[in-house]
Amino acid sequence: MANRIPLIAGNWKMHMTQPQTVDFLDAFIPAVADFDGVEIAVCPPFTALATAAERCKGSRVRVAAQNMHQATEGAFTGEVSAAMLTDVGAWGTILGHSERRQLFGETDEALAEKVPAALAAGLVAILCVGETEGERDRTETEAVLRRQVEADLAQLDAERFGELVIAYEPVWAIGTGKTATQDQAQEAIELIRRLIRARSAEAADGVRILYGGSVKPDNAAELLAQPDIDGALVGGASLAPGDFLAICAAAR
Ligand code: PEP
Repeated sequence: MANRIPLIAGNWKMHMTQPQTVDFLDAFIPAVADFDGVEIAVCPPFTALATAAERCKGSRVRVAAQNMHQATEGAFTGEVSAAMLTDVGAWGTILGHSERRQLFGETDEALAEKVPAALAAGLVAILCVGETEGERDRTETEAVLRRQVEADLAQLDAERFGELVIAYEPVWAIGTGKTATQDQAQEAIELIRRLIRARSAEAADGVRILYGGSVKPDNAAELLAQPDIDGALVGGASLAPGDFLAICAAAR
């Protein structure tokens, strides 16, 4: 079994101006200075990426975007490319978040191009997958995860899987206060790892798979203790430095 370093990533969504970003990071960065053995990332909106990257320089906190376009450049109003993200100092990017899939029409076909485009530019791709409440009620969770993992990674060479991070984010648990139980999260993430194993055993051992969905300081430790859960993608609780710090501490 590979030694996977836990990753705690905070998805700030459409929150945080540049001054708020600076205030957050000035409080947060010194507090995690000795958090050896945990990788930590914040994912600000595009407008605060450069500010965050500048502030995080020389610290252990990494900066990731929340989305990117698959093309290198072109007539895509409102979009940004992987090279534009690396240009402002981004280390990675979230891809396929359920809010992008549900509210902005993100498709598996686009994600199949976005994942290799991000890695080719040197970005860590944090690919989100997960079922809706209706799909879980209809016992379709396994089929949904299989479809998303297979489609979204269809164009990625198996030897690059180790550079990828996958976040299992059950849609019914995002921003709802409902958290998957540790058994539900472990079961789904174990399945995702099995799907990766079908492409490459080495990649399955190396790829980090996070849980996301109402992770809070009081439930983080039990989720992170599961054998296949390699960290957390945190939404609401990543906006308060103290809460995010407590979740990072739970991963140590
Ligand atoms: C998310 O947006 O990725 C997320 C997990 O949000 P929350 O923690 O607020 O449920």
